[in-house]
Amino acid sequence: MHSRTSDTLIRLGADFHRRGWVLGTSGNFSIVASRDPLRLCITASSLDKGRLTAEDFLEVDGTGMTVNGTTLRPSAETLLHIEVVRATGAESVLHTHSVWSTVLSDIHSAEGGFFIEGYEMLKGLDGVTTHEHREWIPILENTQDMKALAVQAGSLLRIRPQVHGILIRQHGLYTWGKDLDAAARHVEILEFLFESVGRRRMMEPAIEKNRRH
Ligand SMILES: [Zn+2]
Repeated sequence: MHSRTSDTLIRLGADFHRRGWVLGTSGNFSIVASRDPLRLCITASSLDKGRLTAEDFLEVDGTGMTVNGTTLRPSAETLLHIEVVRATGAESVLHTHSVWSTVLSDIHSAEGGFFIEGYEMLKGLDGVTTHEHREWIPILENTQDMKALAVQAGSLLRIRPQVHGILIRQHGLYTWGKDLDAAARHVEILEFLFESVGRRRMMEPAIEKNRRH
């Protein structure tokens, strides 16, 4: 991997960790190294994302197997990164485990997702030009069968190519972008929106009470 790219990912890891989005070795980050054949640079399994070094990334092929004879272990979640890259054409995929994504993915799981609309920050998502945009956040049931989950995510993205992120129930967020900067921006924007939606929901009983009086 280009040293500038690994520097950016190391910085991103420290930043996301500080903000509570990748605590306790959770989350993983990937970037497309080549399209044909497909090669992904991805953070190795079980690492503290707040303290990544240039040696903590490995390269995998389109089946999730390591290449270049590394001793590092790829995360089971690597398969999901590969599916997202295939289905969306993204150059980078970022996966985080924040409190708000965990809570909202649980509350709305029965409906298979939820809409976010009316917020100015929606304009930070690629292709969105107005706050009147209605963003669907799909939720997939969590499972340890990452192969099945990756297939589900792939077919979901082919049906709804306009979405910018997927939540896994009680687990976290997968988002992506045309480059690493866009993917990182999508994490920031979606986390901001999740927190806004979540906090607003918490205030709803008080708002209702005031209306009745
Ligand atoms: Zn995860």
